[in-house]
Amino acid sequence: MSLLNDIKLLRLIRYAPVVLIVIFALGINFVVLKDNREKAQQSIDSLRDEVVDRQKDSIRQHVNLVVNEILYQQTQTRKILKEQAQQRVEEAHAIAMNIYQTNPDRSQSEITSLIAEALRPIRFFEGRGYFFIFQMDGTNVMHGLRPEIEGKSAWNSQDIRGTYILREHIQLVEQKGEAFYQWWYPKPGEDKNKEFEKVGFGKRFEPYNWMIGTGEYLSDVESDVKKKVLDWINDYGYDERGFLFVLDRNGKILSHRDDRYVGLNIADISMGARLDLNSMTYESKNEGGFLQFDIPVNYGSNQTKEKVSFVKSINKWEWIVGTGFYADDFEEYLVQKQIVLEEQNHQEFVKITSLSAVLTMLVTAMSLILSNMIASRFGKFQSRISNDFHELESAKDRMQYMALHDALTGLPNRVLLLEDISQGIELAKKNKTELAVVFVDLDDFKKVNDLYGHSSGDKLLELISRKFETILGPMDTVSRFGGDEFIFCFPELRSAEHARDIIKSIRQVFDDQFVIDGKILVTNCSIGVSMYPSDSDDAESLIRKADIVLYKSKAIHKGEVMFFNHTINEQIQYDYMVEEELRRAVYKNEISVLYQPQIDVKNEKLVSVEALARWSNERLGMVPTVKFIAVAERIGVIDEIGHFVFRRACEDILTISPNGTECIDVSINISPIQLMAQDFVGEILAIVDEVGISVNRITLEITENVLIDDVDKVTPILHHLRNLGFGISLDDFGTGYSSLSYLNNLPITEIKIDRCFVDKILVSDQSSTLIKAIIAIGASCDLQVVAEGVETKEQHVRLVSYGCNLVQGYYFDRPLPIDKLASREVGQVSA
Ligand code: C2E
Ligand code: MG
Ligand code: MG
Repeated sequence: MSLLNDIKLLRLIRYAPVVLIVIFALGINFVVLKDNREKAQQSIDSLRDEVVDRQKDSIRQHVNLVVNEILYQQTQTRKILKEQAQQRVEEAHAIAMNIYQTNPDRSQSEITSLIAEALRPIRFFEGRGYFFIFQMDGTNVMHGLRPEIEGKSAWNSQDIRGTYILREHIQLVEQKGEAFYQWWYPKPGEDKNKEFEKVGFGKRFEPYNWMIGTGEYLSDVESDVKKKVLDWINDYGYDERGFLFVLDRNGKILSHRDDRYVGLNIADISMGARLDLNSMTYESKNEGGFLQFDIPVNYGSNQTKEKVSFVKSINKWEWIVGTGFYADDFEEYLVQKQIVLEEQNHQEFVKITSLSAVLTMLVTAMSLILSNMIASRFGKFQSRISNDFHELESAKDRMQYMALHDALTGLPNRVLLLEDISQGIELAKKNKTELAVVFVDLDDFKKVNDLYGHSSGDKLLELISRKFETILGPMDTVSRFGGDEFIFCFPELRSAEHARDIIKSIRQVFDDQFVIDGKILVTNCSIGVSMYPSDSDDAESLIRKADIVLYKSKAIHKGEVMFFNHTINEQIQYDYMVEEELRRAVYKNEISVLYQPQIDVKNEKLVSVEALARWSNERLGMVPTVKFIAVAERIGVIDEIGHFVFRRACEDILTISPNGTECIDVSINISPIQLMAQDFVGEILAIVDEVGISVNRITLEITENVLIDDVDKVTPILHHLRNLGFGISLDDFGTGYSSLSYLNNLPITEIKIDRCFVDKILVSDQSSTLIKAIIAIGASCDLQVVAEGVETKEQHVRLVSYGCNLVQGYYFDRPLPIDKLASREVGQVSA
C-alpha cells in the first residue's frame, strides 16, 4: 500500500467511527422525531375518533332514552284513559249518591233533576269529557253534551260498524255493576265515515238502576300524551347545549329547543343538503342511525356547520326523534389536546435528543479516543514496519551487493562478472565490436603473503583494484575472480590490437611500486586473454579460455600476456588427454623405468644409476617425463606413480645387482608432493623391506625448490630418511634459490649440478666458476657432487679436472632399460 493510502487509512480509522456515530445518532433522532410526529398525529386522530365515537354513543343513548320514554308513554295512553274515565265516573256516582242520600224527602224526579243538573256541566279530558246517564232499558236520563236526546231511548244506537254499543255496555254493567267498553265512533263535526276508537266506563247507580258513564276518544288522549311528551322533550337537555328534536314523517319539526324552528321543515333549514328521511333504512328507522348534514349556525344564518345527528323513528306516531352535535364541536378541545400532546412530544423529543446528544458525545469522545489510540498504534506499527522494511531492504541490498561483490576489494565477484560479460557480449553484438576477457593473475602473490603477512597482501590487492578501476572505460568492468586473480571485460574493442593496447595499461599498473605499511612491494602479473567473437560467444567459455591461456602463459613464462589461439587450444586438448590417460597409466602398466648410469670419475666405473620414469601410451605415444610428472603432481597421481617407480627401481637394481660391496647404487627422484605426503617414510621403508634392497644403496633426489617452499616441514622428514640410511641428493642444484645454509642444516649427502651449467661449462666462465665453486663446497661439506647432462668428452674432462665425483649424461649412457643395463658391463664407459 502506498504512503498516501496509509495516510488515508489512518484518517479513516481516526474519523470514520465518529462520523458514523454522528450519522447514526442523527438518523435515530430523525426516526424518533418522525415517529413522534406520526404518533402525535395518530393520537390526535384517534382522540378525534374516540371523542366523536363517545359523543355518538352519548347522543344515541339520549335518543334511546327519550324513545323508550315515548314508547312507555304510548303504552300508558289507554291505561290513563281508562283510569281517568273510571275515576270520573266514580266521582259522578258519588255525587249522585250524595244527592240521593241527602234528599230522602225528595221524589225520584226531583232527585233525578238535581243529579242531572249537578253532573251536566262537569267537563274533563281537556274539556272534551262529559257524563251521561242511561236507564237500563236504554232511555237517556242525562247527556252532558247532547241534552236533546234526554228521555229518548238510545237502545238501538249503533257505531259505524253496526255494533249496538249502548246495549252491549248496559248488559256488561248489569252483569258486573261496572264495566269498560270500547267502540268506534266518528268525531263530532268531522267526517262521519271516519271512525275513532272510543273507550267508555259505566257504573250502575242502584237506587234508580241507572248507568252513569262517560267515554273518550283514545286519539284525543293520545294527542294529549304526545303534547305532554313533546313538552317533556322540549325540556329535556343534556350536557351543556344538548337537546332533542322531533320531526314528523315529512320532516316537519315538531319539537326544537329554539321555538322558531318548530313547524319548519328540516329539509328547508338544512338547506336541502344531505338529509333525506325517506332514504333512511327500515333498520335505521327502528334501530336508529346517524345522519350528517349541514345546518345554519344560528336561526336564519347563512353560515352552516356540519352536524352529526342520531335519529330514531317512533313508528306508531310517525315521529323521528333525534339529537346531534356539530362536527367541529370538539375541534377546539382537540386543538388544545393537540397542543398538550405536541408539548408532551416536544418535551419527550428534547429529552431523547439531549440524552442521545449526551450519549453521542460520550460515544464520540470514546470512539475518538479509541480510534486515536488505534490510529497512533497503527502509525507506530506502520513506522516500525516501514523501518523494518527499510532495514530489510537495505539488508537485502547489502546482501545482494555482497552476493555480487568481493568483500575485500569491493569489485564485482565472479557471479556479477558472468552477468557483465554476458551483457558485454550483447552490447558487442549490437555495436558490432569485439570483446576481450582479460584474466590477470598476480605473479608470486603467495610470496608477498609469506614475506609481508596476509594483511599486507590484502592491502596490495585493494590498491591494485583501485588502480585497475582507473583504467576502465564506461562500459568496461573489472572483477576479482579469486585470490590474486582479476578479470577485465572490455566490450567495445575494434580489434585484438586494440585489446593489446588496453592491456598495456594493465601492465603499466605494475610498473609502479606499491608502498604498503611503509614497505615497498613490487609485483607483476601474467595475463591470459580470450576474445569475442573469435574464441567464443559464451561468457563462461571465454573465462575458461582466458584462464587456460593464463595458465599456459604462467607455465611458459611468468609476466607475459597470452591470447587464446588454436595452437594453445590443441595443447590444452592434448594436456587434457594426458591428464585423462595418466590416471590409468599405472593400472594399465604403461609406466616403465629407465636407468641412467652414473660414473665415478676416479675409476670411470658405473657405480650407480638414476631411475627415470617413462610413459608410453597407446594414444599419446611417449609423453615427456617432465610433462607427465608435472601433470601427475597437479592431478594427484604422483604418489601412485612415485611408489611404482620406487618399487620397480628397487626390484630391478636388486635383480641385476644384489646387495654387497660391489653392488651399484640407485638414485630415485622424489617429487616434493610425495615427500610431504603422510607417512611417505613408512611407505618407502616398507617397499625397501619388502624388496630386500639395502637402504644405503638408495639415494632420494629432491629438488631445491621443495626446500624453499617448506623447509621447516621437510627438514625432520629428511633427517628421518637420512637416519634410516637413505642418501639425500639435492637435484638441479643452482637453478633455484640455492642457500648454503641448507647444506649445513640438512642431512644432504649429494649435490647434483644442473644440466644447464654443465651445458655451458666450456663456453661460460660464469658457469664453469659456479661449477667449480659447487664442487669446492661439496668437498668442504663432505658431499658427493654429481654433474648431470654430460654430453661431451670435453665436458667430462673439465668436470674431472674440477674434481667432480660422479658424472651422468649421454656421453656415457642414455637412460637404459633394465635389461640393457644388466648387459652393460659395470665399470665400462660406453661413450
Ligand atoms: P633429472 O632428475 O634432472 O634427470 C635427469 C634428466 O636429464 C633426465 O631426463 C635424463 O634423461 C636427462 N639427461 C641425462 N643425461 C643427459 C644428457 O647428456 N643430455 C641431456 N640433454 N639430457 C640428459 P628425463 O628422464 O626426461 O627426466 C626429466 C626429469 O624428470 C628428471 O630430471 C627428474 O626431475 C624427473 N623425473 C624423471 N623420472 C622421475 C621419477 O621417477 N620421479 C620423479 N619425481 N621425477 C622424475
Ligand atoms: Mg634427477
Ligand atoms: Mg636433474
